[in-house]
Amino acid sequence: MSEKSDVQQKLELSELVSLCKRRGFIFQSSELYGGLNSCWDYGPLGVELKRRVKDIWWRDTVQFRNDVVGIDASILMHPRVWEASGHVESFHDPMVDCKECKGRFRADHLEGDKCPECGGELTEPRDFNLMFKTHVGAVADDASAVYLRPETAQAIFVDFEQVMTCSRLRIPCGIAQIGKSFRNEVTTRYFIFRSREFEQMELEFFVAPDDEERWFEYWLDQRLNWYTSSLGIKKGSLRLRPHEKTELAHYAKGCSDVEFLFPFGWSELEGIANRTNFDLSQHAKFSGKKIEYFDDLSGQKFVPSVIESSAGVDRTILTILMDAYDVEPERTVLRFHPDVAPIQVAVFPLMKKPELVEVATKLEKDLRKQFRTFYDVTGNIGRRYRRQDEIGTPYCVTIDYDSLNDHSATLRDRDSMKQKRVSFDQMIAAIGEAQSNPDFWSQSQ
Ligand code: ATP
Repeated sequence: MSEKSDVQQKLELSELVSLCKRRGFIFQSSELYGGLNSCWDYGPLGVELKRRVKDIWWRDTVQFRNDVVGIDASILMHPRVWEASGHVESFHDPMVDCKECKGRFRADHLEGDKCPECGGELTEPRDFNLMFKTHVGAVADDASAVYLRPETAQAIFVDFEQVMTCSRLRIPCGIAQIGKSFRNEVTTRYFIFRSREFEQMELEFFVAPDDEERWFEYWLDQRLNWYTSSLGIKKGSLRLRPHEKTELAHYAKGCSDVEFLFPFGWSELEGIANRTNFDLSQHAKFSGKKIEYFDDLSGQKFVPSVIESSAGVDRTILTILMDAYDVEPERTVLRFHPDVAPIQVAVFPLMKKPELVEVATKLEKDLRKQFRTFYDVTGNIGRRYRRQDEIGTPYCVTIDYDSLNDHSATLRDRDSMKQKRVSFDQMIAAIGEAQSNPDFWSQSQ
């Protein structure tokens, strides 16, 4: 699929990790104390990128639809929730330890029966529950045990009736949530791809039992397209992979993953599943309450089926970064789609002279109303451009001495490095056009 060799791609991942640290996208948590393995902090640019991903998902999944509403539920839930969901009983990874080097690995990720690091002998696989256990209140006994949620979805099922009653939704309809989830993963690697604390964007879409197949196909299509149409990811690096029968959970009728071609191979970004009415039926059984939907048009009562779309915020961010990362002989560029770029427009006075600074800061204030902007006054102009290229800013605006007379500035394009003279009062419109019209730069200097 990709023209780059494996070695090149792996090198790119390590270069990207150092760019993320250097420029303040993402770095290791608690580094002052030597770091906490697999926990990551998003810095000033990373947090903006993360907000963009979540805002765009929320906009497209909730705000632009009449049939989906959102919730923001508590991370700690009643422990019975995780009994009903099956997590207490079966949320395990089989794990083996190396008797020589003491490394720990997931048995289902190993190709042979020797340690992949040192070739040593491995123990028999043992189950390892992935949920983090903690306690509420002052006494840490079994009665006070609770779990940090391993997924956001269960709160949607538990709150289903409440939300249906207060929102006046009719099936087919969905409930969405974005939030933190926690899994005590046996092995964590590949930067933010697999960590123990991460964020999910989940949609549970409730349908009549005889309507499952149609909606499953609909969401497969919607979700795959979302990555290209809303985030600008290249089509060739994405695919849908239907699960083999042996991979499917016993209650699921179908499941496909959206996968991205990472340097370490095709890997899951999101799972889309037909979960039937398993979750609602389980919660009805464990809570002893009836959970049913009455369709007043058909006069039918039923337990709705669920089509789930479950995407990872952090894996989406890694995808955006990998897809945008480009090294040219003279510069490194993050070719972010203008909609996701942490900064959309950088404004510079050519030199740190009061008359230029005054005009540049005023223009930046105007542009701020429309775009995510950044103002930079130090260093030579070439270096300032390179810095913005490296953090993925699509446009730069430079004020020079001519600007004082012609009330215009130089607008520069990150990707082509072409430039155009644009008057101050046309700047917002010109940047808008540059984003939408591919021919915008063809008539330029
Ligand atoms: P994997 O097989 O990679 O462990 P999974 O099938 O267990 O993933 P799901 O339970 O389907 O994952 O979770 C839905 C989404 O949540 C995943 O597609 C992924 O984007 C995200 N996710 C799950 N576990 C992690 C993790 N440990 N770190 C980061 N993101 C995760």
